[in-house]
Amino acid sequence: MVRTSLAGAALALLLPMISAAAEAPAASQPSTPATTSPAATPAASAPEAAATAATATPVVASTAPAGPKITYSSCHVDGPYIAMTFDDGPHVQNTPRLLDMLKQRGIKATFFLVGECVAANPQIVKRIVAEGHEIGNHSWSHPLLSKMSDGSVADQLQKTQSAIVAACGITPKLMRPPYGGFTQRQQRWANGEYGYKCILWDVDPEDWKIRNAEHVQSVILKEATSGSIILSHDIHKTTVDAMPATLDALAAKGFKFVTVSELIAMDKPKPAKPAKATADAASSPAKADAAPAKKADVPASAKKADAPAPVAATK
Ligand SMILES: [Zn+2]
Repeated sequence: MVRTSLAGAALALLLPMISAAAEAPAASQPSTPATTSPAATPAASAPEAAATAATATPVVASTAPAGPKITYSSCHVDGPYIAMTFDDGPHVQNTPRLLDMLKQRGIKATFFLVGECVAANPQIVKRIVAEGHEIGNHSWSHPLLSKMSDGSVADQLQKTQSAIVAACGITPKLMRPPYGGFTQRQQRWANGEYGYKCILWDVDPEDWKIRNAEHVQSVILKEATSGSIILSHDIHKTTVDAMPATLDALAAKGFKFVTVSELIAMDKPKPAKPAKATADAASSPAKADAAPAKKADVPASAKKADAPAPVAATK
């Protein structure tokens, strides 16, 4: 009896200690993953704290580097995300048709608007924005901006921005130069002056030149990859005709549609050269410019065929 009572007394003394010991990790456990701060981790679980610190630090470090990139022809993203972009509108018939198709599928796209067409069709601009799409500045009258004076370029961009704001109340964050023709200096200037990111493309079905829905569909399906920015023109009937099948086939391949700004928000430095990320950040816009600039020369040479189209379509 004595033994048992002694043992009971010993147990009674031990029990609070055991239960306190049992509570301590229980209390610390939820706080450790929740805060991820090594300072919040109790000293008792030092190895665990070290492990937490070790895992927490690289997570922060990997998301930290993001260069001052202002020009994009595509993005590097983890998932199967792509951005459909439609230029030169809004067009009085074809843009509403396209909006219906996008709405039916719950797809958000990006429209690079020509100022003259914005002024002619402000109600369509309002609808584009109301239905959740993004809009960007595509100049006032679709000239080759790279050959124009700063004053003329400013006029083209400012007039269009004012027309867009007047139509829908939204100030665009993006611009796309007609024919992709915009010098690196102009890109930096437009970013400084208007905050614009310069958006080019990596998939071009040349729908302005080859007015054939099947061609548009096949090029887009063949060339689209994760992070692609796909160029097309909602002013052409054949392009809009191509969209239901194109969009459904892209979705069937697993692609998910986002706006350009959403795609840019997911953009990551390419993993191939993480060590040079900081050094490359300064030079990457120049590199990014080089390829599209060459590409831009191709459509630029055919500008006579393209340029009158949006103007004629709206007038
Ligand atoms: Zn254009």
